Amino acid sequence: MNTHFKHEQTLVVIKPDGIQRSLIGEVIQRYERVGLKLVAIKMVVPTEEFIEKHYTLDPEWRRITGEKSIKGFKDKGLTPPTEDPLELTGLLLGKLKKYMTSGPVIAMVWQGAHSVAIVRKITGGTEPLTSPVGTIRGDYVLDSYQMSESDIRSVRNIIHASGSVAEAKNEIVHWFTKDEIIDYKIVQEQIMYDVNLDGIFG
Ligand code: ADP
Repeated sequence: MNTHFKHEQTLVVIKPDGIQRSLIGEVIQRYERVGLKLVAIKMVVPTEEFIEKHYTLDPEWRRITGEKSIKGFKDKGLTPPTEDPLELTGLLLGKLKKYMTSGPVIAMVWQGAHSVAIVRKITGGTEPLTSPVGTIRGDYVLDSYQMSESDIRSVRNIIHASGSVAEAKNEIVHWFTKDEIIDYKIVQEQIMYDVNLDGIFG
C-alpha cells in the first residue's frame, strides 16, 4: 500500500459558474503550479440524485454546514434565516441540486503531499465575500451568504474541494471509477520528494 505523503488525493469540481466564467485554465494552473499532480479529469453534467448523494456522503455535513452558515451571518451582525442548522441545510440541498446541475462541471483528482489541505488553502473559504485575497474564491467571484439568501439560491463559489482526507476518499469513489485515475510520474516529483536532491548534477 502507498503510504507516503505524496500519494494523498483530493477531489476538486469546477462548478457550472466556474466553467461559464472561463476559469478552467486559471483554476487548473493554481493547483498545478503548487506542485500537485492531476491524476483524473472529466467533464460531466451531474444529476440531482448524484449531487444529493455527493453532499450527504458525510452524515455530519448537514449539521456542520448549517452551523457554519449561521455563524457567517452572525459574524457580520446579520440575522440568519433560521437558528436551526438542519433546517438551513435542508433548504440548501434543494438549491445546491439546482446549482450543480445547471450546466457541465469538471471533476478532477489532484495528488500530492497534503493535497487536501493545500487545495482548500488555495481555494479559500465557502463564502467569496470573506474569502481571503489570493484564494480562488477571494479573487474571482464576489458572492455572499446575504446575496444568495435574498436571491434564494446557492452561494456561487466556482469550486468544490474535499474537506478532509476521509471525505476525499469517499468523494473520489463517488465521482470516478478506479480505471479513470491514472498512476504515473511527473519529473518534478523527483525534486519535490527526493530527500537529498540527488540527480541535479549529471
Ligand atoms: P464548501 O464547498 O466550502 O466545503 P459546504 O460543504 O459547507 O462548503 O457547502 C457546500 C456548498 O453549498 C458551498 O460551496 C456553497 O456553494 C453552498 N452553500 C453553503 N452554505 C450556504 C448558504 N448558507 N447559503 C447558500 N449557499 C450555501
